[in-house]
Amino acid sequence: MSTAELAPTGTAAPGPLAHDLVTRLAALVTAAPGRPRQASHAPFDGALIGEVPTCTAEDVAEAQRRARAAQVEWAARPLAERRAVMLRYHDLVLERQDQILDITQVETGKNRVSAFEELADVAMTARYYANTAASHLRPTRRQGALPVLTRTVEHHHPKGLIGVISPWNYPLTLAVSDAIPALLAGNGIVLKPDAQTPFTALIAVELLFEAGLPRDLFQVVTGAGRVLGAPLIEGVEYLMFTGSTATGRIVAEQCARRLIGFSAELGGKNPMIVLADADLDKAVEGAIRACFSNSGQLCISVERMYVEDAIYDRFVPAFAERVEAMELGAGLGWDADMGSLVSSDQLDVVTRHVDDAVAKGARVLAGGQPRPDLGPLFYEPTVLEGVTDEMALARDETFGPVVAVARVADAEEAVRRANDTDYGLNASIWTTAKRGAELATRIQAGTVNVNEGYAAAWASHDAPMGGMKDSGVGRRHGREGILKYTESQTVAVQRGMPIGPIPGQPLEKYASLMTTGLKLLKRAPFLK
Ligand code: NAD
Repeated sequence: MSTAELAPTGTAAPGPLAHDLVTRLAALVTAAPGRPRQASHAPFDGALIGEVPTCTAEDVAEAQRRARAAQVEWAARPLAERRAVMLRYHDLVLERQDQILDITQVETGKNRVSAFEELADVAMTARYYANTAASHLRPTRRQGALPVLTRTVEHHHPKGLIGVISPWNYPLTLAVSDAIPALLAGNGIVLKPDAQTPFTALIAVELLFEAGLPRDLFQVVTGAGRVLGAPLIEGVEYLMFTGSTATGRIVAEQCARRLIGFSAELGGKNPMIVLADADLDKAVEGAIRACFSNSGQLCISVERMYVEDAIYDRFVPAFAERVEAMELGAGLGWDADMGSLVSSDQLDVVTRHVDDAVAKGARVLAGGQPRPDLGPLFYEPTVLEGVTDEMALARDETFGPVVAVARVADAEEAVRRANDTDYGLNASIWTTAKRGAELATRIQAGTVNVNEGYAAAWASHDAPMGGMKDSGVGRRHGREGILKYTESQTVAVQRGMPIGPIPGQPLEKYASLMTTGLKLLKRAPFLK
C-alpha cells in the first residue's frame, strides 16, 4: 500500500472553512433564537468546522408553516418560471464548484473526484427535470368510460409539503436532487440533513435561493433525526427518506400511521459479477471505482464480487495489485484516489468487519488496516478472500472500502449467489454487452450496470432508480421520481348519454343493451 505521500500542494489537511461562510450558512436554518448549537468536525483532521442550531419540534412546525405559505404562491406560478430557476441553478452549481467541492470534502473527508460526482449529479438532475417536467406533469387525455361520450383527463397536482431526510454520505446531491423534481411539481420542502454534514446541504440550498427560489419555500432544520423525524413526518404530505434500512423501517411506520406516501432509498450489499469473457483491464478499473468511490461509503458501491473460475487467477491478483497502488490522502487536491471515512462510527464498523473476517479465516489480499498516519479516520482499500457466512461482512452492509471476492464455477452460480441477500439495490456485471444485458434481468436489484459499476444506471436520470427487497420502497429519477410528489386526479366529463338507464327505461332492457354494447366494444381495435 502506498503511504500516500502526495505532493504537499493541495493535499495537506485543509484549513477551516471561512468563519463568515459558516455563519452565513448556519443562518439559513429555521430555529428560534437561543437554541443550543451543535458543532461539526472535519474527518480529515478533526478540526472544528462550525456550529448549527439544534432545532426542536417547534422549529420544525415553524419551518412547515413558512414553507406551506410559500408553496401556495409557488404552485400558482407558471411551470416555465419554476423551470427557469432550475436551469439557473444548474449553471450556478457548475460555476461555483470550487467552493462547493471544498465544503463537501471538508465535511465528509471524501476525495475530490467523489465530491465532483455529487456536484455533477445535482447539475444533471436539475437539467433533466427542468427539461422534462412539462411532459411528465401536463394533463393527459385518457380513454374514457364510453368512446366519444366520456372525455377523461388525468391531472397532477402538487402534494403540498415534502419532507426530505438525507444522509451524510452524499450530502450535496441527496439534500437537493430529490427536492428538485418536487419543487418543479409545485411543492415546498422541509429538509433535515444529517447532523454530520449540515454545511454541504446548506450551500446547496443557498444556491437555490440565488437561482431564484423563494426563500421560505425551502426550509432546513438541523439536529438529531430521532428527535426531528417524527415532527417532520407529522406535518408533511410526503416523505423522501435516504438512509439505513433500520431507520427506513421507523419512518415507514410513521408515514403509514399518517397515511402519507413515502420513498425510502436504503442500504445495499451490492454484488459484482466478472465472467470469463469480460475485458480484464476494464473490469479491474471498473471494480476500483465500484468498490472504493467515496471510500466505499456509497449505497450502490460493490461489497461482494463473484469471479468466474476461468478468469479468477488473472483478475483477482491484477485487482489486488491495483488496489495496493491506490493513493490515499487528505486535502483538497485532485490527486488522491481515496479519502477518509466520515466518522469514528464508520471506522469502527469497517475495522470490526475486517477483523472479524480475518479472525474467522478470511485472507487479506490488499489493505486491511486503518491508517492513522494519514488522518484519524483513514482505512485502507481492502480486498478479502475466503469470506464465509459466519462472518459479519458476508451479509451485513459494511459501507466502507472493503470487498469480498469469491470464485464461482459459472454465470449460473454467480447469479444465484448475487441474489442470495436480503438487499436488492444495485449490481454490476462484466461480460459481453449482449450476455450482460440478458443476465441483468435475472438479478434482483433495482439497478444493474453492465460493464460499469454504478454510474451508468445512476446517471441515467430518465430511468427509475431504487431498491428491491430491503433496499427500499419507491423510486427516484425518471417519471416515477417526479410523479410521486403529485396527487393524480381524474376528471371525466360525460356528454350525451348517461352511464346508466335512460329515465323510464326498464332496468333489464338497460342491462341487455349494455351487454350487447360491451361485446361490440371488445371487438373495437382502438379500445384498451
Ligand atoms: P441513517 O438511517 O442513520 O441516517 C439517515 C438520516 O436519517 C439522517 O439524516 C439521520 O439524522 C436520520 N434519522 C436517524 N434516525 C431517524 C429517525 N428515527 N427518524 C427520522 N430520521 C432519522 O443512515 P446513515 O448511516 O446516515 O446513512 C448510511 C445509510 O444510508 C447506508 O445504509 C446507505 O446504504 C444508505 N444510503 C442509501 C442510499 C440510496 O439511494 N439507496 C443513498 C445513500 C445512503
